[in-house]
Amino acid sequence: YKAKRERHSVQRYFPALSEEAAQRLALQQQLRAALQQGSLELHFQPIVSLETGRPSKVEALTRWMLEGQGFISPLRFLPLAEESDLILQLGTWVLQKAVRQLAEWRREFPDLQMSVNVSPRQFAMPDFAALVAETLSRHGVSPEALILEITENALTAEEAFDLYAELQRRGLQLAVDDVGTGYSNLALLCRAPAQLLKIDRSLTEGLCGASGRHSTQALVRALVVLAHERGMQVVAEGVEGTAQVEQLRALGCDAYQGYLASMPLPAGEMTSYLRAGRAANPSSERRN
Ligand code: C2E
Ligand code: MG
Ligand code: MG
Ligand code: MG
Repeated sequence: YKAKRERHSVQRYFPALSEEAAQRLALQQQLRAALQQGSLELHFQPIVSLETGRPSKVEALTRWMLEGQGFISPLRFLPLAEESDLILQLGTWVLQKAVRQLAEWRREFPDLQMSVNVSPRQFAMPDFAALVAETLSRHGVSPEALILEITENALTAEEAFDLYAELQRRGLQLAVDDVGTGYSNLALLCRAPAQLLKIDRSLTEGLCGASGRHSTQALVRALVVLAHERGMQVVAEGVEGTAQVEQLRALGCDAYQGYLASMPLPAGEMTSYLRAGRAANPSSERRN
């Protein structure tokens, strides 16, 4: 009797579930097609040094424009990609596209670094380190110029520490992304094999907010001390106002990223942005 009742409730619930599943599947197929047709794009957002005021790095962010629907947020399509091997193809495409662009920019801006987001599943690829190395050498880019961003939760998963160590041996830089969003494990964060720590926008926003301002400042100050102790630089994400910049400077942050400096831009517009940044502050470009 009980089994029968359960069967009924399942039947009533099933149509709604399958409709949602069908939608996800359709979007997943459209994403696969977009990847194959080359209709995905990369946009780039500058990371500005608080010391020099100049953009020293850019982060590559994937953009998907779907006809009739405008831009679809990565926060919506990435989880779909992560359900299948699509994330591996997407990740490889991003890597190749970003490194090719980096090679071009470094001819004009020799110190520029490129930051690329990497999904945890990419690290599980057996040949990931080799793929990265091969991509860099094909474009003649030195490994120090590429930063791989990994979210805090993934980076502090100890299983992958060996791979991170190998990537670092090959000269790549690693960044812990979105610090402060997950359940930060400070002990693991301290040992995270990374050169960069990126403080999430939720914390940056709280720096000048109406409530919790002082506790957020204390938290960011502690993260900066911890990072510097471990030889890591600190980047604050999601900076939208000049007051935040002053706060971040006072707290000892090294760099910031956010709409205040620039929205993520297509490559051509980012080239103009980088040229303008150099023109505004030519002294730090002089070598010798
Ligand atoms: P993220 O790596 O933390 O990237 C920063 C996100 O914050 C970007 O969102 C960026 O557009 C947004 N942002 C930057 N400055 C500001 C600001 O001042 N205010 C506000 N409100 N937002 C700002 P986006 O491009 O939508 O990407 C969302 C997330 O999707 C990224 O977060 C990253 O985790 C992921 N993602 C994007 N592209 C890729 C990719 O190619 N591969 C992988 N694995 N993940 C990606
Ligand atoms: Mg990122
Ligand atoms: Mg981030
Ligand atoms: Mg973030």
